[in-house]
Amino acid sequence: MILLLKPNADSRQVDSVKAWLRGQGVEPREVIGSEATIIGLIGDTSRIDVELLQSLDVIESVKRIQEPYKSANRKFHPDDTIVTIGEVKVGGGGFTIIAGPCSVESEAQVTDIAWRVKSGGADMLRGGAFKPRTSPYAFQGLRETGIDYLLHAKAETGLPVVTEIMDINHLDLYEHVDVIQVGARNMQNFELLKELGATRKPILLKRGLANTVDELLMSAEYVLAGGNAQVILCERGIRTFETQTRNTLDLSAVPVLREKTHLPVIVDPSHAVGVARWVPALSMAAAAVGADGLIVEVHNDPPHALCDGAQSLTPEVFCALADRLRQMHALGAAPTAHPRRREGALRALATLN
Ligand code: PEP
Ligand code: MN
Repeated sequence: MILLLKPNADSRQVDSVKAWLRGQGVEPREVIGSEATIIGLIGDTSRIDVELLQSLDVIESVKRIQEPYKSANRKFHPDDTIVTIGEVKVGGGGFTIIAGPCSVESEAQVTDIAWRVKSGGADMLRGGAFKPRTSPYAFQGLRETGIDYLLHAKAETGLPVVTEIMDINHLDLYEHVDVIQVGARNMQNFELLKELGATRKPILLKRGLANTVDELLMSAEYVLAGGNAQVILCERGIRTFETQTRNTLDLSAVPVLREKTHLPVIVDPSHAVGVARWVPALSMAAAAVGADGLIVEVHNDPPHALCDGAQSLTPEVFCALADRLRQMHALGAAPTAHPRRREGALRALATLN
């Protein structure tokens, strides 16, 4: 971190800032130049309050050199993290597909969808039991019973299951859940993140509706700092001025995250775009841009779904999409593919036409 001092900064005040910094465990090194004076901070600056420094009379500006996230940072962990859920791996060059209904509605519904997405090659089953709904009058999910139905579908099909947690007091209900989802609305529920950091369950952390990539990484850092290394990040669209789609899918976040962090990154095109017919194109785009996988909503009867029917694919459309995704991935053209394989694939693509 570098502090630029104001011209003619009071030297006694500068000394007291330096003393305060030493108390924070960092060593301030002052460099007096002809134009300006700067103070470089040596040591771990992740606990330094940048806003506080910026507000001081003697400080012109503060520049962070190193990101405040250590555990999530690729600089300190160059190899991709692979999150392992039984036989399923997320990260490390594969393309993992998670599919299922927005909400668990009945045992028959979720089990039927589970079989159908499995036949299309889904690796995991999703389904909400505790639903974060904007309206208190909308369907809130089947809660405990929903988790039971989801676990029934898991027992029948063998698919690992992903479901959202909204309250840490419910944690005991998730004992047999394979991946715990933290939804967009809870991305900055720091107490929840800390408690999940103390578990050893894989966590699917979705980006908040109005959060930056760095904020997503800081939230992941909460879980990692607790000792839970199994975090999957998810880009699910952010709120912008655009109203044609439910949210704006920020596909740029995928390569940015892959560079900044070793954690796997998946994409949720369903909540991003909000319209089923646009989901396949965005799914292909997610694979092309280097995502480690996809979480997509599938319903056996979208017009009668209790939640998010408009964005839910039918099982038939899902199966066709999964096929195309696999073909595209097998071609090895995605940025996550091994460089040699990718080179070959790109050469093969160049010879087409
Ligand atoms: C969901 O995946 O069911 C969900 C509510 O998503 P998000 O938190 O991204 O809105
Ligand atoms: Mn949904």
